[in-house]
Amino acid sequence: MMTASQSQLPELVHTVAELRNRLDAARAAGRRIGLVPTMGALHEGHLSLVRAAQAECDFVAISIFVNPTQFGPNEDFGRYPRTLAADCRLLADCRADLVFAPANEDVYPSGHETFVDVGSVAEPWEGRCRPGHFRGVATVVLKLFNLFAADAAFFGQKDYQQSLVIRRLAADLDVCTAVRVCPTVREHDGLAMSSRNRYLSSEARGRALSLWRSLCAADELFRRGEREAAVIEARMREILESAGGAIDYAALADPQTLAPLSRIADSAVALLAVRIDSTRLIDNHLLVPGGSPLAP
Ligand code: AMP
Repeated sequence: MMTASQSQLPELVHTVAELRNRLDAARAAGRRIGLVPTMGALHEGHLSLVRAAQAECDFVAISIFVNPTQFGPNEDFGRYPRTLAADCRLLADCRADLVFAPANEDVYPSGHETFVDVGSVAEPWEGRCRPGHFRGVATVVLKLFNLFAADAAFFGQKDYQQSLVIRRLAADLDVCTAVRVCPTVREHDGLAMSSRNRYLSSEARGRALSLWRSLCAADELFRRGEREAAVIEARMREILESAGGAIDYAALADPQTLAPLSRIADSAVALLAVRIDSTRLIDNHLLVPGGSPLAP
C-alpha cells in the first residue's frame, strides 16, 4: 500500500491547450469530469470539495488561479498566499487527477474585454463592500465552465452569496455543468477554514472565533423562537464588537434572494463580514426550522 507521501502527484498543466488535450482524453475514455475551482493555499475545506467531486465523478480536476479581476485595488491580491507545490502534495494525498494552474495571460490574454454581470443577487453584502468582486468571480467561473465542460463543479457554502451568484449565472447562461454546493468545513473550535486565516496572529486568531460565536448565538435565539431580525442582529454585533471586530455587515437575509429581512417568516441566512485587524473574514449560517444545531 502506498503511504500518503508516496501518493502520485496530480498531473499539473499550465496552459489552456494542454488542459483541453488532457480533458479530451479523459472524456474519450468515458470519464465523468468533476471540477473544483480554487485560488489555492488549499485547506481541508477545499479538500472536502475534492472528495465530494470524487464521490460523483471519476476524473477530478482542480483549478488554482488567484483571479486578479475579483480583487479591488486596495485588497490583498499581491499578498494572497501562493503555495502551488504544497497544494499539489495535498491533492496527491486525495488522489486528485489534474491541477490547472494558469498564468494570468492564459486566462486574460491581451485584448480580453468581456465580463459577466450577474443581477440582483450579486448587489448587496459582498457586492456592496467589494465593488466589481462578483463581476470578476462570475467572469472567471464562466471561463472555467467553458474550459472544462465538466459534468459537475463543486463550490463551498462558506461563500454563501458567491454560491447563489454562480447558481444564477449557470441557470441564466445555460451552463451544462451541474453546480454543487457543499457544507462549510470548520476548525476544531468552529472557525471556518479559509486561506486568509493564515494572515491572523495567534492573538487575532482567538478574536476571529467571535464570528463562530455570533453565528451560534443567532442559531440559539432562532431555536428559542426569536423571529425579529433586529434582535438577532444586535446580539451578533455585540459579540463581534466585544472581540474588537470591525463589522462590514452582520445581518439576516432571505436565503434565496439575499434581500434583508426585518422578520423571519420561515428561514433566513445569517451573513457576516468582519475585519479582525487587517484580515477580512466572512462566514454564514442558515437558520431553518428543524435544522441541525451548529457544531464545529
Ligand atoms: P477559494 O480558494 O477561497 O476561492 O475557495 C475555493 C472554493 O472552496 C470555493 O467554492 C469556496 O466556497 C470553497 N471553500 C473555501 N473555504 C471553505 C470551507 N471552509 N469549507 C467548504 N468550502 C470552502
